[in-house]
Amino acid sequence: MITIHFHDTLAELLPRKITTGSIVCVNSELKASIKDVIESLGIPHPEVEKITGNGRERDFKYIAESGDCLEVFPISPKSNFLIPSLLRPDPLPAYRFVVDVNVAKLASKLRQLGFDTSYRHDCADKELAAIAGSQRRILLTRDRNLLKRSVVEFGHLVRAFDPQAQLLEVMWLYRLDDKIKPFTRCLLCNGLLSPVAKKDILQFLEPLTIKYYDSFSRCDDCRQIYWSGSHREHMSKTLNGVLAADIVQP
Ligand SMILES: [Zn+2]
Repeated sequence: MITIHFHDTLAELLPRKITTGSIVCVNSELKASIKDVIESLGIPHPEVEKITGNGRERDFKYIAESGDCLEVFPISPKSNFLIPSLLRPDPLPAYRFVVDVNVAKLASKLRQLGFDTSYRHDCADKELAAIAGSQRRILLTRDRNLLKRSVVEFGHLVRAFDPQAQLLEVMWLYRLDDKIKPFTRCLLCNGLLSPVAKKDILQFLEPLTIKYYDSFSRCDDCRQIYWSGSHREHMSKTLNGVLAADIVQP
């Protein structure tokens, strides 16, 4: 028999029919990797930060033996994905995201705060997983099975239902509060915004916009034009909501 202790937020993901606590006993004759055992209990591997057993850190390929007592720890605000770890030897170059359609509004909110966020409403699961893997992005979704795909190395099962609460959850988990760059990214395509002179875009503006606004920016990729009266109010609302939430770091 193998004993596995799931710590903190991981215990909440265990099915009620298996346990009402945080410790699960598994048949040692399965001879499956610890990654497969953990996922068979309903916990996607990207949710795991560290596994220890018999005093040593273990990787996902470890095959537990009878009598083993394993401890499984969740990713948390203390996790740093920019440095190598035993489970993830190849760290992320930066905190960038790819967002599933089941948390679609999260994509817009992350872009409003300037975070590099890939999103398409028609992206199939296989493609989402491939983007996460090949572009080294953190996959944000409410779909456990999507996170279990082996190509997904970094990801998070979003718990909150409300989009603003989802944003705060992600910002808290990845300690994003000091990385906010509002009004720098296109809400439509994720491209970067650059200042543009009013005289250069007059032909694209409505008469009232020309009359009341003087400061404009334009997306480097899709050429969408932004000004203080358009999307800035939405961005400010999101930003003020984040600042008011006072995200507490451990
Ligand atoms: Zn754009």
